[in-house]
Amino acid sequence: MFWQKDIETISRRALEELQLIRLKQTVRQAYKNIPFYKESFSKLHIAPKDITSLKDIQKLPFTTREDLREHYPFGMLAVPKEQVIRLHTSSGTTGKPKAIFFSKKDVDRAAELIARCLIMTGIKKDDVLQNMMTYGLFTGALVMHYGAEKVGVLVIPAGPGNTKRQIALMQDFRTTTLHVTPSYALYLASVIHNEGLDPKKDLFLRRAYMGSEPYSEETRIKIETSLGIDVYNSYGLSEMNGPGVAFECMEKNGMHLWEDNFIMELIDPDTGEKVPAGEKGELVLTTLYREAMPILRYRTRDIVTIIPGKCRCGRTHRRISRIIGRSDDMIIIRGVNIFPQQIERVLMGIKAVAQNYQIVLEAYDQMTVRVEISRNLFDGKVDHLVNLQNEITEKLRSEILVKPKVELLEPGALPVSEGKATRVIDKRTL
Ligand code: AMP
Ligand code: ZN
Repeated sequence: MFWQKDIETISRRALEELQLIRLKQTVRQAYKNIPFYKESFSKLHIAPKDITSLKDIQKLPFTTREDLREHYPFGMLAVPKEQVIRLHTSSGTTGKPKAIFFSKKDVDRAAELIARCLIMTGIKKDDVLQNMMTYGLFTGALVMHYGAEKVGVLVIPAGPGNTKRQIALMQDFRTTTLHVTPSYALYLASVIHNEGLDPKKDLFLRRAYMGSEPYSEETRIKIETSLGIDVYNSYGLSEMNGPGVAFECMEKNGMHLWEDNFIMELIDPDTGEKVPAGEKGELVLTTLYREAMPILRYRTRDIVTIIPGKCRCGRTHRRISRIIGRSDDMIIIRGVNIFPQQIERVLMGIKAVAQNYQIVLEAYDQMTVRVEISRNLFDGKVDHLVNLQNEITEKLRSEILVKPKVELLEPGALPVSEGKATRVIDKRTL
């Protein structure tokens, strides 16, 4: 089950030769057409001719999201405006938008990458994909949409929210595949069960593509078991087309990153140096096959590791782990570094925990984890609640080495998220 078998299973040597050819082209194109790169090259006293091997990528300047913002709207565009056919902006989760441009070829190439991803999970033309990502300026929905159409799948452009209508669409059109954020998937699963539906009998779901925000293996398992499906992790970012950068195959053990389209490096976020093999680091990506907007060494801020060894599926493109955190969302409490995902992992591993939680940080480094639990625990027996509260507190303490306050809430008490969830509320900085 391959979309482009030759390129997906290309030998490492041939892949590296192709990368070098494309890297040289990309560097020339960026230098010639984007004044920002020309200036950064001259500050570093380098020129495109200095790139003669893949290792030389380390000579190139990094690009940060601040660079993209500073050159908003057209400063990073490498082709005349009449060649641009689509504009996206980043979701702005972390601030002002960045403009991302696609030429006709770029739209098509992004769709090809999605087609590879979908076929890799066993999708067929008679599958029905319900796309619950937000349509609009975000890349998430449209890029997936075009890729799925390329495969020939029926796409339902549902967008997020309106959960009862989502369920009706799933029943009426026999949806087999969801494209959804983890926070919405958890909510959706709870509504399906509350409606008295048995997903395995009353629905036709087989798989979900889940991404756009961090989640843990425990969350994956929770959704897989409650809906009776396979969940495949999907990674991407607007600056690199959106979805389709890295995706899981049926082995579900790390995401193949399409290395003919992107060069990946893992660096220490503080020093910018390459991390030793096997260690975690910030993912840095260089586009290799983009026309309108080549980007060199983009600092994603996403922390990953590279999964060693060959994948049983036969694809030779290396796999990245799930996103362990961001180099900038780390919480520091009483001097201890904590990733919100560690907390999520603990919570989702506890059966009585429902779908929603929130981490509140207050003055004097007080941390409160507010968590929704199953309704049937509010049965008037206080000792059940106390035991659960103690269990959660203790498990969190042993994972994050800080003892948080734990607040148990009824389902529905926290704001429902239909897009990216806001998990951490830091009142210390207000
Ligand atoms: P955006 O540019 O708005 O699409 O956001 C991209 C960011 O979303 C990435 O840099 C990641 O931090 C996050 N993201 C996307 N996909 C995943 C995923 N599968 N797991 C964890 N985080 C993700
Ligand atoms: Zn694989």
